[in-house]
Amino acid sequence: MAPPGGPKGAAAAAEAAGAPAPSGPKKVPAAEPAPRGPEPGLRAWAAGERCSCKASFDGRLHQAQVVEVREGGEGSPEAGGSGRAYVHYLDFNKRLDEWVALDSLQSPGEAKEAGGAAGPDGAGAAGTGGEAGAAGGKPGFGGGDSGRKMTRNFKRRYDEIHHIEKPVEELPAIDQQLERLHEEKTKVKNIQLVELGRWEMDTWYYSPYPEEYARCHKIFLCEYCLKYLKTREALVRHHQGGRCKLRRPPGREIYRADRPPSSRHENPLSVFEVDGSEHNLYCQNLGLLAKLFLDHKTCYYDTAPFNYYVVTERDRRGHHLVGYFSKEKVSAEGYNLACILTLPSHQRKGYGGFLIAFSYELSKREGRVGTPERPLSDLGQVSYRSYWSRVVLELLREHRGNLSVKEISHISCIRVEDIVSTLQTLGLIKYWKGQHVITASTKVVEEHLRSKQHRPGLEIVSGKIQWQPPSPLISKRSPRVPTPRS
Ligand code: ZN
Repeated sequence: MAPPGGPKGAAAAAEAAGAPAPSGPKKVPAAEPAPRGPEPGLRAWAAGERCSCKASFDGRLHQAQVVEVREGGEGSPEAGGSGRAYVHYLDFNKRLDEWVALDSLQSPGEAKEAGGAAGPDGAGAAGTGGEAGAAGGKPGFGGGDSGRKMTRNFKRRYDEIHHIEKPVEELPAIDQQLERLHEEKTKVKNIQLVELGRWEMDTWYYSPYPEEYARCHKIFLCEYCLKYLKTREALVRHHQGGRCKLRRPPGREIYRADRPPSSRHENPLSVFEVDGSEHNLYCQNLGLLAKLFLDHKTCYYDTAPFNYYVVTERDRRGHHLVGYFSKEKVSAEGYNLACILTLPSHQRKGYGGFLIAFSYELSKREGRVGTPERPLSDLGQVSYRSYWSRVVLELLREHRGNLSVKEISHISCIRVEDIVSTLQTLGLIKYWKGQHVITASTKVVEEHLRSKQHRPGLEIVSGKIQWQPPSPLISKRSPRVPTPRS
């Protein structure tokens, strides 16, 4: 198990420079007028250049931009002899950026002949059905190439991962500046693989792990305390030496189901409330892990203003992390969710919908309408749309359509604007004499509910939620203690 940048990479670099392979790392002498591309006929590439390149996510040629070039075997251990380039596919999300062999790059003109350059289809943002689909990821041992391909598939199945982020332009000036610096630093993904419990996952984005870890090709996480380590041996010591006795997230278990949330699931779920000021280190570790799968998430270190709601699958060994959402302890804007993530190893199982539904369960107990922080990402948009549609349609069915938007909002704690936009998308609302009027016949509602994307979400047993809003919130917002509905 040679670490990246170890003897193997060094040998490859030396070979590329035509020198005999030494035993240790050695830089190619800069004075040598050696050509950039060691093989004749290979053109040199520089950062910023357009090219076309065969993408690993669909095996087709796409227009791309070179982000960084590394000669020889530097960088990824998958490096070929001629060096590698980190490329960004122009029509696709940054999460698909990857290292490719330099000799696989083509000039944009050549790509046309190959006829590959496809539109932005590969990302497949199709339905949020939440099909059980073979979980994915792979058991964390062995680490062969087949596993890597399998985890890469997750990149296309991203419906279930949500992240809510502000575009740079909407940030305050000082943050904009920091954010642009951050963009410069984060354009190349640092860690490629993460092992967490039974899963090994390809990462999607840069995450600001401390420098010595950020240089690792793969990092190993304790699935309970989320401590990050450089080797599996260190992880084993972490558990065996009794250094980590945790078998669940810290904080308070506020939900504990007796049975799995659907017939497609094996284990029951728990939800933990982790206070960002009490469990600062855990929440920072969670933020660093989340960042590997979220493009923009700026708050890793200031965890105190947030509570984290961590969802786990429970079995005899312990509680296994599935995903989480964070929520401001006090939100003047009425946000009930700040950031949400389902780990790639647990996507397509309906957990995104579960997290969203749970955030509204908390809002119901607070007796106040909530909405996620804006703007929503593409992924967040899809999952929220699906959740809102299902809730609104089920309420319309239950009340045979005799319900106003305000009443729906009152029952569900979904904000009026979110309900209106949902009904508009479903074509079930008219604007008439200055008012929104729901126009939903029983038949149309039933038809919608029968369609695949509105199938029931995972079960939340409301009576199993052991949670009350903190008292200052109650006294400030309403004179009486709100009684939970549903
Ligand atoms: Zn631990």
